[in-house]
Amino acid sequence: MFFHAHPDDEALLTAGTMAMLAAEGHRVVLVVATAGERGLAEMEPGEELGETRMKELYTSAAVLGCARVECLGYGDSGLSPKGGSADERPDNAFIDADSEEAAKALAAILQEERADLLAIYDPAGGYGHPDHVQVHRVGKRAAQIAGTEIVLEATVNRDPLVRLLKLASRFYTFPPEFDVRTFESAYSPGESITHRVNVRKYTKQKRASMAAHASQASGGDSDRTLAVLLKVPRPLYRFVFGTEWYVRRGLPEGTRLRHPFEQWPK
Ligand SMILES: [Zn+2]
Repeated sequence: MFFHAHPDDEALLTAGTMAMLAAEGHRVVLVVATAGERGLAEMEPGEELGETRMKELYTSAAVLGCARVECLGYGDSGLSPKGGSADERPDNAFIDADSEEAAKALAAILQEERADLLAIYDPAGGYGHPDHVQVHRVGKRAAQIAGTEIVLEATVNRDPLVRLLKLASRFYTFPPEFDVRTFESAYSPGESITHRVNVRKYTKQKRASMAAHASQASGGDSDRTLAVLLKVPRPLYRFVFGTEWYVRRGLPEGTRLRHPFEQWPK
């Protein structure tokens, strides 16, 4: 089971792993906390955008071979770094949710599916979006409640990412709001990463998953990450997106695994 904050997060972080596991015959389930109704789009945010984004999510999930898609139905807390002020947020914003209650809802699906593995985010929530931090908190607790054995924190190895972005910025003009420096403290340093999953074989599916989220690649002006990523030239794309990274807590230092279900020899 892959737990994400908003439709499109699965495309960026875990799409290759999901496609790989589905191709290997695993039942892959995708759960989002919110419909992402406060995302970027040329249309007005709100219910309608939520509907569009859920449709995009179903398309993406179909491309990746998911057997089931669920939305916990919380409100998207929005894009600003701290989720904006409380009165700017919807009543049921995910970051205002009782995390124990949310964890129980997620745990119920984990139990129903008898899931072997739950993928969440690292404690920083990647680049720090408050809904992503909440995914970490809620996901970790849900796995405890359901007794899910393997919890993987989806992340990005920031070392090569920062190197590549710096290199790319010499010949590619990023939008002004895309600040390469913010990536220096985002995600996880290479030494903490336990799983490096080679997903090069699933580049096509990952790209199609990203393309399914068309509403997020066109509108908006504050966070154009997906738009930027989709414009990355194909060879560079294959290089940057050929690997997906995870941290499994409690494994000895220096653990390097290549598959989500690979076990560290005891
Ligand atoms: Zn997100």
